[in-house]
Amino acid sequence: MTKTTCMLSLAVMALLGACQSLADPSTVSATNPTPPLVILVHGGAGSVGPNGMSKEDQAAYRTALGLALDTGYAVLAKGGRSLDAVQAAIVTMENNPLFNAGKGAVFTAEGKNELDSSLMDGRNRNAGAVAGVTIVKNPILAARAVMDKSPHVMMARDGAEAFAKEQGLDIVPPSYFFTQKRWDQLERARARAKAKAALPASSHFGTVGAVALDADGHIAAGTSTGGMTYKRFGRIGDSPIIGAGTYASDLSCAVSATGWGEFFIRGTAARDICARVQWSNATIQEAADLVLADLKNMGGTGGVLALTPKGTYAFSFTTQMMFRGVKTANRDEVYIFGDE
Ligand code: ASP
Repeated sequence: MTKTTCMLSLAVMALLGACQSLADPSTVSATNPTPPLVILVHGGAGSVGPNGMSKEDQAAYRTALGLALDTGYAVLAKGGRSLDAVQAAIVTMENNPLFNAGKGAVFTAEGKNELDSSLMDGRNRNAGAVAGVTIVKNPILAARAVMDKSPHVMMARDGAEAFAKEQGLDIVPPSYFFTQKRWDQLERARARAKAKAALPASSHFGTVGAVALDADGHIAAGTSTGGMTYKRFGRIGDSPIIGAGTYASDLSCAVSATGWGEFFIRGTAARDICARVQWSNATIQEAADLVLADLKNMGGTGGVLALTPKGTYAFSFTTQMMFRGVKTANRDEVYIFGDE
């Protein structure tokens, strides 16, 4: 081999090496030899201090977050996939009227409930999402069906509903989503809109989400929401948008967001956090804090859960509180306010 051909092949090898480091993780086995089992959940973020929430409500939220953590962790402990753990945790919160997702979804300006949800598998970056569904009891299950049973990533409104029916998912009348608490919130928002007053900050919050790491070293993320009180019909937020409200890749991290969706979409928030983890030396906490600070500069507040395949994780929020919790082999904690 001449010196020139040798140098050429070295250059080609270097190039191939560079390409390999960009390879899709579906072709790469997980690198973490004994990953810890981790699940994080959130139930929305908002601008309420400890004096703004009754002790009974605080206790009810803590119990519900604990149930979501226990349900998701049980899947991981049995050797189940992070994707299934995320889904199981979210179903418990969708079925609980406390949260702005599933049963407890907020109302649109017209007095209807339009639900959005998505989930993503970090193992191969498969993803599924539904937007604007009105009769699907558990939108996270519809998102999962879109991912597993269709060639698509996102389906919306009546198309998503027809698909959910075909898949045999639980279909409910729109009245299933009625709760007095959310109706009262709508009435207050309508009165404010009539008086041309700004909507209360809390009208932007309440989504649920989870991220998890399984025994095989794979991460996943999911998010589900009723959106924002008094949203226009047809408005879709960040929660069902991959890269905005939800993202997962074993190459970087898993994120589920909550907050003022328009800003999370414009800031491609979930992917931006993971891109910083992937391409810079930022820790998961630094990456999440930087992105949340950036959104705040744009005018939008909220919070995220973020988790790497090594098991390092972060909660970050620019609101006074975020309903949140973590469960691992040694931790089992739920928190509400910023100083906990
Ligand atoms: N991010 C959701 C949306 O904008 C709302 C929330 O998190 O509460 O639809």
